[in-house]
Amino acid sequence: MITLQGVSKYFGGTDRRQAAVEEVTLHIEAGDIHGIVGSSGAGKSTLLRMINMLERPDQGTVTVNGERLNELPERRLRPARQQIGMIFQQFNLLHNRTVGGNVAASLELAGVPRSRRQQRVRECLEQVGLLDKLNEYPAQLSGGQKQRVAIARAIANHPRVLLCDEPTSALDPRSTSGILELLQQINEQLGVTIVIVTHEMDVVKRLCSTVSVMEHGRITESYSREHDSFAP
Ligand code: ADP
Ligand code: ADP
Repeated sequence: MITLQGVSKYFGGTDRRQAAVEEVTLHIEAGDIHGIVGSSGAGKSTLLRMINMLERPDQGTVTVNGERLNELPERRLRPARQQIGMIFQQFNLLHNRTVGGNVAASLELAGVPRSRRQQRVRECLEQVGLLDKLNEYPAQLSGGQKQRVAIARAIANHPRVLLCDEPTSALDPRSTSGILELLQQINEQLGVTIVIVTHEMDVVKRLCSTVSVMEHGRITESYSREHDSFAP
């Protein structure tokens, strides 16, 4: 489903060039929930953002669902990106649009006609258990509810992959549990492959089928629930 081959990303000018990610090779199978863990600054977020070309790699190849994304020009990335939903630590909702409007926004970007949007907005909010908040604004919601809206928005275009950047780091333990359950549901019921960056070991233990540990821009260890004792 996702293959990174020799992927590197550098920041800074030529004289102070720093590798954020260096020579990473990684394969994630369809249906996996893959965790990327490691300390702050290890390159986790940069690696995640290269899976949907929010960051372009300086070297190496990124293949998602059979498509070599790093070779696509910007204008051809949009349809490819619709295969890849993303959620963030700070939710990144549109504050001037309602809950329904936030979900509708990703359908509008994908060119879904208005007549079909209404139905799809309701389906997605139903999936995350927030249909009753359709006409409320993000400011009226709790953190956990905001992340649910973000998840509804991220799955609106039926993605094959969901990228999660520290999705529970701004949440209390109870909301965290709810979000982890929801992500598991989305993986099992919709068959969405999930990649999750987190510094919370508990999240990994509860959710992930496979794990990569990053240090200084490189993957230093890999675990799989099937083959390893899985107590990283
Ligand atoms: P993590 O997600 O593991 O905390 P990041 O991927 O955010 O790590 O960052 C890895 C390294 O790359 C850090 O040293 C960070 O400062 C640097 N970095 C990340 N994004 C940028 C950027 N846009 N410009 C300059 N440096 C960056
Ligand atoms: P917004 O101001 O965020 O667009 P409204 O309050 O005007 O939302 O819309 C009422 C409801 O209609 C929303 O809660 C949502 O379910 C739905 N909706 C909003 N925008 C769209 C849209 N562009 N396409 C389809 N449905 C929409």
